Amino acid sequence: MDFQTYWLLALPFFFGLGWLAARVDIRHLLSESRTLPASYFKGLNFLLNEQPDKAIEAFIEVARAEQQTIELQFALGGMFRRRGEVDRATRLHQSLVERTDLTVQQRTDALYELALDFLKAGLLDRAAPLFDKLKESDHEEAALRHLLDIHVTEKDWLQAIAASLTLEHKTGEDHRSERGHFYCELAILSYSRSQFEEAQQFLDQALTTHKNCLRARVLQGQWAMNDAKFSEACQIWQQLEQPDPDYLFLVAKPMVDCLRQLNRSTEALTLLESWLSRYPSLDLLAVTFQTALEIRGENYAHALTRQELARHPSLGALEKYFESQVVMAPVEQREEWQRMRDIVHGQFERLAYYQCHHCGFKARSFHWHCPACGQWDSYPPRRQVEQDLQPRVN
Ligand SMILES: [Zn+2]
Repeated sequence: MDFQTYWLLALPFFFGLGWLAARVDIRHLLSESRTLPASYFKGLNFLLNEQPDKAIEAFIEVARAEQQTIELQFALGGMFRRRGEVDRATRLHQSLVERTDLTVQQRTDALYELALDFLKAGLLDRAAPLFDKLKESDHEEAALRHLLDIHVTEKDWLQAIAASLTLEHKTGEDHRSERGHFYCELAILSYSRSQFEEAQQFLDQALTTHKNCLRARVLQGQWAMNDAKFSEACQIWQQLEQPDPDYLFLVAKPMVDCLRQLNRSTEALTLLESWLSRYPSLDLLAVTFQTALEIRGENYAHALTRQELARHPSLGALEKYFESQVVMAPVEQREEWQRMRDIVHGQFERLAYYQCHHCGFKARSFHWHCPACGQWDSYPPRRQVEQDLQPRVN
């Protein structure tokens, strides 16, 4: 393309246009800044000087004087809530909700913020209807999650099932395992009211919802045992091995009790030893050791602990070894063995806890539902001391 000389004349023209645009922009900014109240700049100044409390007071003054500063009011409300001043946040968001000059989006945002205030204040009965209203808004997903948490906290399991289904439908997430637990909770409630048929139906629903719902299998076996259906209980519990053998420890002790009721004690010990060799765990070892002691006597239990100590060395195995030594040793040496056993036992007890992998909460017993963070299935079926001893992969 040939260069045309008249193009040189166009350059100053475009430069002039740019200069004009900048002037207009600066004038606009200046006129805007003149409309901002002095408190706004005062607040900014306090913020820059790291005096947040004074800054907040200055911004409150702006918000009071300039009702159109909606975004500032939202910012203040959120900050009050974060600082724990929930009453203040609630009053501010309540006044926003009551205003008639808000856009649809602003009103929805105000409702959501108000629901969060109620949630933070623990007023679940006031938060829930607001989250319910937000089901068809931008805040739908967050509102559904909060509603689910509220129903779980209030142990309203039917509502929790409904909320979990809606959330699954909206997000595509898999909530079946969680719903299995909700049906188990309903089953436990019915069982405690002696509504046994209804309880069984809820367990069936748990298993229909989540085929591998281990908790439902554990409960089914427990209730069969309560009805003296020992053989049936054993059959149900043996099914746990297929989906996840790590949870067998939950049924090991009652399984032994059932088999002993059926005069199959030796079979019980053989089964436990077989599980222990294939799925070593401290909880299984404890039950196997006790059963061996009761059924086959001290020598057998002692040999078992020696074998286990060689095969899977651990603090728990060492404790059982010392325990068997206390029983086996001549009377004059027992005190010494007992002392050593107590030292190891104390250390083992200190470290043998289950730990939530979501929030780190430690518990002496196994939980399906973390009492601290409310997460389901967040406790691994092994005590932390065992996981720490797992071989490291380099
Ligand atoms: Zn937790």
